[in-house]
Amino acid sequence: MKARKNLTVLVRAQATRIMLEGTRAVGVEYLRNGKIERVRADREVILSAGTYKSPQLLMLSGIGPADQLRSVGVDVVHDLEGVGENLQEHPNLLNIYRAKGKLGLSRYLRLDRATIGVMRWAVSGEGPFATAGTMANIFTRTRPELRRPDIQIIAMPVHQHAQLWFPGMTKPPVYAFTARVGVLHALSRGWVRLRSADPLDHPRIRLNMFTEQPDMDAMIKAVRLSRELFDQLPMRELVAEELLPGPRFQTDAELAQAVREQAEHRHHAVGTCRMGTDDNAVVDAQLRVRGIDNLRVADASVLPEDPSGNTNVPTLMVGEKAADLVRGQFLGTGRGLAGRGANIDYLVIYLKGRRRKHSAICASLQRYCRARPSELSNSSAAARFAWLRHRTAALNFRAGSARPLHLHGRLSKNDKRVK
Ligand SMILES: Cc1cc2nc3c(=O)[nH]c(=O)nc-3n(C[C@H](O)[C@H](O)[C@H](O)COP(=O)(O)OP(=O)(O)OC[C@H]3O[C@@H](n4cnc5c(N)ncnc54)[C@H](O)[C@@H]3O)c2cc1C
Repeated sequence: MKARKNLTVLVRAQATRIMLEGTRAVGVEYLRNGKIERVRADREVILSAGTYKSPQLLMLSGIGPADQLRSVGVDVVHDLEGVGENLQEHPNLLNIYRAKGKLGLSRYLRLDRATIGVMRWAVSGEGPFATAGTMANIFTRTRPELRRPDIQIIAMPVHQHAQLWFPGMTKPPVYAFTARVGVLHALSRGWVRLRSADPLDHPRIRLNMFTEQPDMDAMIKAVRLSRELFDQLPMRELVAEELLPGPRFQTDAELAQAVREQAEHRHHAVGTCRMGTDDNAVVDAQLRVRGIDNLRVADASVLPEDPSGNTNVPTLMVGEKAADLVRGQFLGTGRGLAGRGANIDYLVIYLKGRRRKHSAICASLQRYCRARPSELSNSSAAARFAWLRHRTAALNFRAGSARPLHLHGRLSKNDKRVK
């Protein structure tokens, strides 16, 4: 990155405001070494401060729900109700069992063994530290009629809160197995709001987890499933007792109480600058802030819904997509990704710029479409696919290009390649 002449990275600089002239973004104001500095943008400003800070910066700049902004003394530039709303997380509850004997990864956390383990990993990429500890990820449904898994159970042969230990210096370890039990498509929605007009103040954050009963129902079923798994052989013979949420929580009411007392989240916050085409959406499908020129948001905050798994890779996809949008390389109308009726959700196809791969891509798309006819709208899967085949054939592949062209999201007759 250092070699790039068109990139300057400023560290220890806190953005305090997006500079606006009328409703046009013209730069960024930031605090560095105790001084306010400004940088002007020739073309556009891209905000990537994350799910909590991106809406905060928009609001500090006068873009957000007018009443809220006025209540903390911020001048309103553009009344955009959705900023900071629609906050979503993946709720999480720990189901931990004490192991019978010295089982699992805790033995490798003894200081001397851990030191050797890290060195072994650094030298050969092998050994106990060649794993992140997450040995199994279970995605399943709490109700058979669901179209996609609604819970995720992350299984680890170690206590969630395990630490390095050494005899005589620290407490002895608790040898344990952990299942991190979580709901994937929670209905509950929270918010991010300004605490004050001071950019150094943290925003107010309210997750509102489990305000929707179906979220609680799914979590209770998920905990029951996790317990059932631990009650199967061979796990049953390896565990001594349940530590969390604890054996005293058995009925639905008791488990709901355990959830309220113990639930956490997975650090998968999304949604506060939601992409969409309705009046409350914050950015459009090209990630442009609605009602403001030359300003995009590109981070987890634009995801309209928490994805069916961890959020890092989907956020990287947003970044990749944003890069293509800025460079004017994309397939899709302004409403393609988040708008019109469902076609193919989150389909990402990498066209490596080689004509000979074209037919294989079409064939795999065809299989995809056939497997999911209910997700296609407006026309039959076959008709849609005929169009798609035509469309992909019409693409001007850049032979040998190192950078793939991305076909993201939904494809329909109106999609165009925009230069
Ligand atoms: C503890 C933890 C564990 C996680 N584990 C996983 C995991 O195992 N797998 C997974 O897929 N996801 C994981 N995630 C989630 C994943 O990290 C996020 O979804 C992802 O990083 C979101 O990317 P982002 O660009 O939206 O925001 P961020 O990665 O938060 O990037 C925002 C950046 O903006 C900077 N910033 C904010 N405000 C300002 C300002 N005013 N001025 C200047 N800079 C500013 C921040 O310092 C930060 O560097 C984890 C998250 C956490 C917190």
